[in-house]
Amino acid sequence: AKVKGCLKSSALTFATLAGVIGGVIFGLCLRQREQPWTDREVMYISYVGELFLRMLKALILPLIVPSLIAAVGSLDMSLSGRVGGRAVAYYMTTTVMAVILGIILVTIIHPGKPTLNDDEIEKSGESRNVTAADTLMDLGRNLLPPNLVKATVAQYRTVLVNPGEAAFVDDAGQMRDPKNLYTWAIKGEYSDSTNILGLVFFAVILGITLAIMEERGKPLLDFFTCLSEAMMTITTWVIYMAPVGVFFLIGGQILGMEDMSMVAGQLGMYFFTVMLGLFFHGFVVLPIVYAVCTRRMPFRFIANMMNAFTTAFGTASSSATLPVTINLLEEKNGVDPRIARFVLPIGATINMDGTALYEAVAAIFISQVRSMGLSIGQIIAISITATAASIGAAGIPQAGLVTMVMVLDTVGLPAEDVTIILAVDWLLDRFRTAINVLGDSIGAGLVYELSKAELELFNQGKIEGGFEAVPM
Ligand code: ASP
Repeated sequence: AKVKGCLKSSALTFATLAGVIGGVIFGLCLRQREQPWTDREVMYISYVGELFLRMLKALILPLIVPSLIAAVGSLDMSLSGRVGGRAVAYYMTTTVMAVILGIILVTIIHPGKPTLNDDEIEKSGESRNVTAADTLMDLGRNLLPPNLVKATVAQYRTVLVNPGEAAFVDDAGQMRDPKNLYTWAIKGEYSDSTNILGLVFFAVILGITLAIMEERGKPLLDFFTCLSEAMMTITTWVIYMAPVGVFFLIGGQILGMEDMSMVAGQLGMYFFTVMLGLFFHGFVVLPIVYAVCTRRMPFRFIANMMNAFTTAFGTASSSATLPVTINLLEEKNGVDPRIARFVLPIGATINMDGTALYEAVAAIFISQVRSMGLSIGQIIAISITATAASIGAAGIPQAGLVTMVMVLDTVGLPAEDVTIILAVDWLLDRFRTAINVLGDSIGAGLVYELSKAELELFNQGKIEGGFEAVPM
């Protein structure tokens, strides 16, 4: 039965990979049609992918919240404190490593040639920058939603509106001054994606409370445990649809994308720099961190998570991928549910290595294009704000582009400048989301390895203050 299960899950992994590659080929083939595809046609083609995405998103609330409450509630306070502390230490360390790697690469490769003059840096009348304060204040607002029911449908985002569309690099491969082409405005609004940060925060608090209540909290804890088990089973079914879902999501995106042939020259080099950083961080730095901390090689572990990476690539959202990530981590990598369900939702909201790396590279690339020399102080400011911007970014498509405006602001670059990298952002978003998910997964695996012995003692009731673990 074990061999059969293994074959089945390998077949699913290959099918999802084939879905990604097939989706790209499918989209490219459809693009060959002479007559351009209308929005309605693209919508028809993306429809199945849209349904898949809706199913994943539907799982977030009923799966993540009960799982987190049950996981935290079934550990004792000091143990969950240590587990949480390890997770946060890992998140911060690896995010800073990603930023530093990005800065090193963008400085060495130097993708941006001075194309736009420094004196053109002037903020146009209608636009206002999203500052670091705006992003941090949004983080605080999202952490404390005034109404939990509303939090399930909305989160606060200070966003850019009127992004405009057109070429950013002219036929000669030269960057065009975006200032004259676009009008940017900033507005604070509720986006309709779930405020996962607020829900996660609430769930942790409720879980801690139930743990403190011990026996009296047990009925509620049992309820959430049961609900999370049921939702996990549904997740397994949804994962079976991933190959088809990812195929149409990607096919539709490729079909609807702008002409990418203009992405040559320096924008291409910028793309390459971010990609190089993402792959180096994901497949060299993070595995080394894992191996050093746990004395185990993570390659099998990473291969087991493949479906989560392809789903992240297909959806461009770490939050939507979260059910898949948790499922694989438990089912294929054997991570204790109390760790996986506790650490992953937090990781998916605040730990975004790929986004942090991209924010640093993008900000420095733009200042290179602007022929702006950066002082050491400014580079340090970029690293700090890139880290904060990645924490503040929600796990939804292109959230990093919005919070990047605050990184630009710290070195005096206008919000309009994000247009310089807009043409390739949708694609980079998919890769950085996959690396974000990889970072979260490795983090959960690492925290599990480090906490294994304590969990064992806790299960045997040998840790002070503990009560009998809820079987999960
Ligand atoms: N889309 C990314 C994520 O969900 C966030 C980003 O835009 O960088 O992880």
